[in-house]
Amino acid sequence: MKYIFITGGVVSSLGKGLTAAALGTLLEHRGLKVVLQKFDPYLNVDPGTMSPYQHGEVYVLEDGAETDLDLGHYERFTSCKLTRKNNLTTGQIYEAVLGKERRGDYLGKTVQVIPHVTDEIKQRIRQVGQFQDCDIVITEIGGTTGDIEGLPFLEAIRQFALEVGPDNTLFIHVTLVPFIKAAGELKSKPTQQSVAKLREIGIQPHVLVCRTEHSIDRELRAKLSMFCNVAPEAVIEEKDVANTIYEVPLMLQREKLDELAVRHLKLDLPPADMTAWRSFVDRIITPKHRVKIGVVGKYMENRDAYKSIYEALTHAGAGADAGITLVTVDAEEIEEHGAAKFLSGLDGILVPGGFGVRGVEGKILAARYARVQKIPYLGLCLGLQIAVVDFARDVLGLAKAHSTEFNSETPDPVISMLDEQKQVVKMGGTMRLGASICHLVPGTKIHEAYGVDRTTERHRHRYEFNNRYREKMEEHGLIVSGMTPDGKLVELIELADHPWFAACQFHPEFQSKPNRPHPLFSGFVKAAVANREKTPPAR
Ligand code: GLN
Repeated sequence: MKYIFITGGVVSSLGKGLTAAALGTLLEHRGLKVVLQKFDPYLNVDPGTMSPYQHGEVYVLEDGAETDLDLGHYERFTSCKLTRKNNLTTGQIYEAVLGKERRGDYLGKTVQVIPHVTDEIKQRIRQVGQFQDCDIVITEIGGTTGDIEGLPFLEAIRQFALEVGPDNTLFIHVTLVPFIKAAGELKSKPTQQSVAKLREIGIQPHVLVCRTEHSIDRELRAKLSMFCNVAPEAVIEEKDVANTIYEVPLMLQREKLDELAVRHLKLDLPPADMTAWRSFVDRIITPKHRVKIGVVGKYMENRDAYKSIYEALTHAGAGADAGITLVTVDAEEIEEHGAAKFLSGLDGILVPGGFGVRGVEGKILAARYARVQKIPYLGLCLGLQIAVVDFARDVLGLAKAHSTEFNSETPDPVISMLDEQKQVVKMGGTMRLGASICHLVPGTKIHEAYGVDRTTERHRHRYEFNNRYREKMEEHGLIVSGMTPDGKLVELIELADHPWFAACQFHPEFQSKPNRPHPLFSGFVKAAVANREKTPPAR
């Protein structure tokens, strides 16, 4: 088993996750089975309860783990299947260590950061290598070198490298080489200091990945090499990409990062054939069509809050040879100024998942606008629930219909919590989380888009379509297109007499990949393209 550790220096938000994922892409294209893993040095047990404003989206894995959004990059850039073992937080480590301490597992010893916490971390690295089918484990250490909370992780990987030997471990340090305008030059000092900090802990990076706005010339490479004690060819430039994050693997391949990695790890492998990837990237950069897609949500300032959705739209766009122009719309603005002001002229409207009542009425109006104006619609999770509420209010005439999440007293709870689910409330875990099977209903547009009879999709929600209203809704043109295998829960709906109005109770965005867009996103984007061609913009 081979191990690559990726640390970060100077500042956060350098795109370490992306670098890790892109290296994963290259190694996978060289024929290796790759697994990625992220260590997060915060005390939360998982990001499930953290605000999307602070932390970006919560990425949900097949096993229901609520994880850091970098795991989304890992799954999109490689074919690895991740589990809750692949995202470790300080909170989880302490939970495990304290649990052992209470059980008396440490036999009366003093429990300490070294060795008990570091042992726990090392065990998690080993576990991933042992139990997941792979040749190589890439571990990203969250945070920035020099942070107090990151120290136990760095100490653990230092020890780990010693245990598995130098040919089996590679340390990559992702760092910032800033451009100072006043001096008109790139500066190496922050990187030197960051590497010095790492070496103080006992880690000598083998590779420096330098995030930069400008190209790093020979002279600067030589300087970074000398001061940081890495080989000149191991100073890798990672410039900001011009068009799309999917260019990153191609750029790192040009910089020979994968070449360096396999050589260091004594692996004899053919070069990566990136032809299909390159053509995917080309379709993103120079698409034949262009569509404007509105996303109506509430965390609009934070682009990370709906990360997987934006990526899934990009994938579907590349599949349909259509560039996506994203228009982000704050649902509360719709409440104030009406839907038409923001949504007219769009080729497609998407309402993502969400929790809490803020902006819900605006989202309902957005779904109504898409339904009435016959604009292609895609509703994800809450986006299905509010579409059902609109349908009940506006088509069935149940003016007070609502989800019990937002109005527990509503006379028409068209979205509600199941009795079984309520039982769970008492035990604390109320959320339906993770992958489950959905049967698709033949003869529906959604079934046609999928082209199969059943699918597995990931969930993260508490409330459900209330079957008491199903018959009445179906009489009026709402079509149930997908159900749980027991026929009890509605998973997918569409509308008759509409070019594309589809909504799902699950989160398809978590399973979309570059050359394998999700059928619901593909159907939506294709409908948006058709919508645009129908009404060509005035020139
Ligand atoms: N708040 C809704 C629920 O809990 C929807 C959740 C979501 O969109 N992920 O059911």
